[in-house]
Amino acid sequence: MYSGMTPKALEWQKKIRKFVNDELIPWEVHAEKNDGDLPKDIEKKHRDIAISLGLPGMGISKESGGLGLNMFEQMIIWEQLGRVTNALCWCFSEAQDWMEENFNDFQKENYLKPLLNGTKKECYAITEKGAGSDVDGSIETTAEKKGDQYIINGEKWYVTSANLADFFFLQAKIKSGENKDKHSLFIIDKDTEGIELIDTPKFSHTYAHHHSIYRFNNVSIPSKNIIGNEGIGMDYTHSWFRHERLGIAARCCGAAERLIDEATIFAKERESFGDKISNYQAIQFMLADCVNELASTRLMLYEICKAHDSNQDVKILHGKCSMIKLLASEMANKIADRAVQIFGGRGYMRENVAERYYRELRVDRIWEGTSEIHRIIIANSLYKRGLKSLIE
Ligand SMILES: Cc1cc2nc3c(=O)[nH]c(=O)nc-3n(C[C@H](O)[C@H](O)[C@H](O)COP(=O)(O)OP(=O)(O)OC[C@H]3O[C@@H](n4cnc5c(N)ncnc54)[C@H](O)[C@@H]3O)c2cc1C
Repeated sequence: MYSGMTPKALEWQKKIRKFVNDELIPWEVHAEKNDGDLPKDIEKKHRDIAISLGLPGMGISKESGGLGLNMFEQMIIWEQLGRVTNALCWCFSEAQDWMEENFNDFQKENYLKPLLNGTKKECYAITEKGAGSDVDGSIETTAEKKGDQYIINGEKWYVTSANLADFFFLQAKIKSGENKDKHSLFIIDKDTEGIELIDTPKFSHTYAHHHSIYRFNNVSIPSKNIIGNEGIGMDYTHSWFRHERLGIAARCCGAAERLIDEATIFAKERESFGDKISNYQAIQFMLADCVNELASTRLMLYEICKAHDSNQDVKILHGKCSMIKLLASEMANKIADRAVQIFGGRGYMRENVAERYYRELRVDRIWEGTSEIHRIIIANSLYKRGLKSLIE
């Protein structure tokens, strides 16, 4: 349906679809029944395949050891990875283009390269107890320069994958000096003295990746661990947000495709009142709405990726990433709800793919900016730059 599809993107789509179908999907129910965990040899197998495919460096240039794929090709991959539940697609760490552009030589050697070859894993510590949606205004974690060290103090909430990670990207405000209160982004090794695990709350989904709370007590790190300069941390966070928001939208499209496929197969087999339920209009209407919503969302996702690849103004792109994150996450949640309904009682069983997506997709309307925050970003972009900039 999409006129901009390319042979290269189709090739990636096919390759990743096979990986997801043959290797990841068969382990979903095991993960669900075992707190998200897989046998160690299977976990290693998945990671090795992902690394051999080059997935940790999708958007990193070939000169730096990546695949050099454009955003459209990367999102074709993430869309396929979204077709598996229980976060089994998070079997590799992803280095992003903003890291390649902004890391100093020390950081490239000690963090970018290990991300690419799978020997180190990252996590992001931005949110705090009092700073969720209002990242910019309310962060209280501080970084104080002392000689050639920064001293970090604060508490970070919901640090996804920190239990499996080797280092944090941590956002803090500079404590004193000419950049006082300005945001900066730091890399902190997880084994640094003063890092305290406070709590590992349970969440709706069943993932091996936890979302724990950490306290940083006078954590001393070398000043070469600041990314770029003091005061521009929010720029990197915005780059990361844009990438993640597209990634969430792509995974939501993949999830929606899987849900429609599975619900259709079931509807064609299941009999009630002497007929297949697929022959009842109530079921047909639900499936038809799902198809339409997925098809239109995917088109918008692909067009926004293309806008990204043609270097559209970053402020306009920021608004567009909010548009697609909002649309795709709400679309996928609606489709999961309908899929549970089509499966009937089976759709409420944890063994069932619709039940798992019903829980798992809910957070896509919350993390990387809530749906309300994305509506605010879109409205602000509309007021500042006009409707044309957002829809053309
Ligand atoms: C499972 C999980 C994993 C996460 N992983 C990470 C991670 O790895 N790293 C990280 O840094 N963070 C992470 N987060 C944090 C996540 O990004 C925040 O939860 C999210 O940004 C919302 O912040 P909050 O929870 O503090 O909600 P709040 O900001 O307190 O919002 C509460 C409600 O108020 C609404 N609201 C707030 N402000 C406005 C407004 N101006 N107008 C209208 N409505 C408003 C919100 O939309 C929401 O409905 C994770 C969260 C979860 C649940």
